[in-house]
Amino acid sequence: MFSLPKILGLLAILWLVWMLFRLIERRQIQTNSDKNGPADNQGEEGPSSAVEVEECPHCHKFVSRGGCAEENCPLRG
Ligand SMILES: [Zn+2]
Repeated sequence: MFSLPKILGLLAILWLVWMLFRLIERRQIQTNSDKNGPADNQGEEGPSSAVEVEECPHCHKFVSRGGCAEENCPLRG
């Protein structure tokens, strides 16, 4: 048979673990929202556009997919 102090001790340990999980979960949510905060308005456009950076074969600069400022840039249009 379990004695009352043992059950209370078990409950206390369970409660501690539960609180720890909630703390970690909340911290992860906070860090995630910190990272995606500004990009949330743009939906999934933010991260994907950051990946689409190519080296321009004409001016040898890393530019976004729209091309660089050069008018005869092959990445433009
Ligand atoms: Zn270019």
